[in-house]
Amino acid sequence: MDLTEAQRQEMAEARAARSETRRPTVPALEAMLFEVMPVLDHGFVRVIDYMGDDGAVVQAARVSYGRGTKAANEDRGLIRYLMRHRHSTPFEMCEIKYHVKLPIFIARQWIRHRTANVNEYSARYSVLDREFYIPEPSQLAAQSAINRQGRGDVLEGEEAAHVLNLLRQDAMTNYDHYLEMLNEGEEGQMRDESRRGLARELARMNLTLNSYTQWYWKTDLHNLLHFLSLRADSHAQYEIRVYAEAMMKSLAAWVPSVYEAFRDYRLGAVTLSAQMLEVVKRKLSGEQVEQKGSGLSAREWRELMSMLGQEG
Ligand SMILES: Cc1cc2nc3c(=O)[nH]c(=O)nc-3n(C[C@H](O)[C@H](O)[C@H](O)COP(=O)(O)OP(=O)(O)OC[C@H]3O[C@@H](n4cnc5c(N)ncnc54)[C@H](O)[C@@H]3O)c2cc1C
Repeated sequence: MDLTEAQRQEMAEARAARSETRRPTVPALEAMLFEVMPVLDHGFVRVIDYMGDDGAVVQAARVSYGRGTKAANEDRGLIRYLMRHRHSTPFEMCEIKYHVKLPIFIARQWIRHRTANVNEYSARYSVLDREFYIPEPSQLAAQSAINRQGRGDVLEGEEAAHVLNLLRQDAMTNYDHYLEMLNEGEEGQMRDESRRGLARELARMNLTLNSYTQWYWKTDLHNLLHFLSLRADSHAQYEIRVYAEAMMKSLAAWVPSVYEAFRDYRLGAVTLSAQMLEVVKRKLSGEQVEQKGSGLSAREWRELMSMLGQEG
């Protein structure tokens, strides 16, 4: 992940600035503000701003006149209660704003989360950088034979080298053609004065989906948790999961009690259907239950056994 000297300077200035405020601040998140958390080969996540803390969730839940916080264990208990019982609005009182640099094909997944405010870098206005996501060899997997939305074994040897070569070559060739169509004299090339060049908003259509884009992404804590519960999950594609994992670090720094409750009641929790619960009850009473006659399909049975850490 490369930053220009001017970008480093801007970040250093932002980190050095101080503002006086009556609002609560969170020292652990303040320490992360504006810092780059590298993700993938050229991507990153940075926390740009935030509002609220654990106390703001409690304050809103109690509709209090002041900070609304009581003994730390009471506040923690309230947050855990709210999370357990899926109360959402107290968590909506906190907000966070990220700057994210990510490949376009991951941005397409991310943008499906509609409950955020987004402002994306404009490739109508600016020329995109020559930066493409090329997976690490360990992520270069074949199509999964059992999961149509997943990966199987990692490609090896010549096949892996060939795929990496195609990814690099296609991205580079398309980018070269992008610059040629723009004809703006980018990257030290001479502008061809005999041509006018194609508009930026059109030339970009030739870029590969692994080109990087950037946006500011702001959301409230409730919707951030929803995003993280889907995208930090093992079913999410690796390339978006690594962004969610970086954001989890900022969550832990920002609202430690909410993070702990989220980990316990959402990330580490499972949902059992009525039939699944019935199977668990029968097993607990010592009955030998088989998939046949359990009321569960073979797939549901496998999922339940995996949740219970038992052989299907
Ligand atoms: C593992 C995985 C696989 C996926 N596969 C596919 C796929 O194959 N194809 C595909 O198209 N998508 C796919 N998605 C995207 C998925 O269907 C959702 O669009 C995405 O996760 C955003 O979720 P959301 O709508 O809950 O989030 P948000 O848009 O942030 O919305 C949050 C919540 O707000 C409410 N809400 C927001 N907008 C509306 C609205 N207009 N009307 C009613 N309620 C609303 C809903 O309760 C929603 O759950 C996949 C997602 C994951 C995590």
